[in-house]
Amino acid sequence: MNLKEYREKRDFKTTPEPLGEVVNTGQSRFVVQRHQASHLHFDFRLEMNGVLKSWAVPKGLPAKPGIRRLAVQVEDHPLSYIDFAGTIPEGQYGAGTVEIWDRGEYTLEKKMDDRLEFTLQGEKLSGGYALIHTNGQNWLFIKRKPK
Ligand code: MN
Repeated sequence: MNLKEYREKRDFKTTPEPLGEVVNTGQSRFVVQRHQASHLHFDFRLEMNGVLKSWAVPKGLPAKPGIRRLAVQVEDHPLSYIDFAGTIPEGQYGAGTVEIWDRGEYTLEKKMDDRLEFTLQGEKLSGGYALIHTNGQNWLFIKRKPK
């Protein structure tokens, strides 16, 4: 796990985003950030192996089973990004405003190369979800039916 791609995309003299580092906390947290960039989207991030595994979800997380939402995997973000909210200046990667939309903890139930299953316990979101890899950077985000 490293943050090379994250760091290469940003100018830390200009952006307020954290430089960050790989940190293993032993916690399992998630965040959803509402990112009003050139296109509004939601960034979903899971604390895993010392970084935040990250997906951009154009339409946000599915509210109920049966809805499939595209989730595009993006570069790993540093753990400290979990608290980031603010304005990324014009001309910088991801220029726009970032707000924390939800946050909490998750329980990992399945981890395969092409499938993650977890239960979120956030302030807004709760219940079982899955991310299923389809092709390239594309994943499908689904809400699982309650057992
Ligand atoms: Mn984003």
